[in-house]
Amino acid sequence: MPLSHGRPYLAIPGPSVMPDRVLQAMHRPAPNIYAGALVDMVDGMVPDLRAVARTRHNVAIYIANGHGAWEAAVANTLARGDKALVLATGRFGHGWAEIAQRMGVEVEILDFGKRAPVDVTRVEERLAADKAHEFKAVLTVQTDTSTSVRNDVAAIRAAIDRAGHPALYMVDCIASLGCDRFEMDDWGVDVMVTGSQKGLMTPPGLGFVFFNDKAAEARAGMDLVSQYWDWTPRANPQEFYQYFGGTAPTHHLYGLREALNMLVHEEGLEAAWARHARLSQAIWAALEAWGQGGPMEMNIAEPSIRSHSVTAVRLGAPNGTALRDWLSEKAGVTLGIGLGMAPPGDPAWHGFFRIGHMGHVNAHMVLGVLGTIEAGLEALGIPHGPGALEAAAAVVAKG
Ligand SMILES: *Cc1c(COP(=O)(O)O)cnc(C)c1O
Repeated sequence: MPLSHGRPYLAIPGPSVMPDRVLQAMHRPAPNIYAGALVDMVDGMVPDLRAVARTRHNVAIYIANGHGAWEAAVANTLARGDKALVLATGRFGHGWAEIAQRMGVEVEILDFGKRAPVDVTRVEERLAADKAHEFKAVLTVQTDTSTSVRNDVAAIRAAIDRAGHPALYMVDCIASLGCDRFEMDDWGVDVMVTGSQKGLMTPPGLGFVFFNDKAAEARAGMDLVSQYWDWTPRANPQEFYQYFGGTAPTHHLYGLREALNMLVHEEGLEAAWARHARLSQAIWAALEAWGQGGPMEMNIAEPSIRSHSVTAVRLGAPNGTALRDWLSEKAGVTLGIGLGMAPPGDPAWHGFFRIGHMGHVNAHMVLGVLGTIEAGLEALGIPHGPGALEAAAAVVAKG
């Protein structure tokens, strides 16, 4: 019997759950885009965006998804024929590398596999060997959403510095901003990219590129940056339309304004990080317990390098797909697919799932997901250890 009627829960790692307040803020007629409330609102959002990124520096807003933000960051810093070093720990590191390659950048990838973080010793060695300083940039991802590994952004900066290398340090925080601690200025990040639809709780469609003075200098030295992707007028608009290179994404902005009210002014960034950490621990406690008596296994074994916004799980084929299907059909919960773990078409593809727990997520939502997973394992006869829900509840009880 389906028990799925009721409010559905999209527990995929982006787009994330949109708060009702964000949706309501968007539900209004078209505003004047030349003067008045909208114009004032956007000026006021820039400091809040800087606060979320922990930077005093610049932000350029694009009407784009994360791929657009990736391309914008490359377009402003790397010319055809320039070299970049990409540190890959999953699908998304490779994705950014592909974007750069298509723009003519000579990319070298240090691949750390699907179950480990960036090894900073290898980064230091590779950069130290680049005596001529041919690499213009080092690109990496804080949380790789496919593997759910979380890289140590500050430690990578320290490795770049130990090698005495001047490359720009560019970090993708699309899956982690607002969820995991990130300190752009303190951690020495030159360029950071993110998007609206994950920790920022707003529909997909806004991409953000934060950049410091060193990155602005690199931009100034570029031979050619196309008008639309140029971050300079977006970050320092003389006229309102320059923020967006044309018409403002009006309703996304209303949504984002409300999301920033919730994140920055009501809950507070530090409290949001703590909430994500605690809810992650509850999820991991349940996964750990299930794994004691069956094939369930977290993709990242070491807790200190796991993301606080997404957890990738291995369950063996066809259990992963079977469980996802059961949850969506019978329980109203949609889990994420395993991304980049096995090629589509390979039977092993069906052995994975991911739980998204980013943004507008609370204890009841997490316990609901875990409770329905327990029911699904039971219904499908997938072996699993006992005590998972008790273990998760005990973590939540700690507050
Ligand atoms: C979601 C995501 C992207 C891609 O964002 P799109 O909006 O789908 O283009 C890139 N990097 C990371 C880490 C992500 O989680």
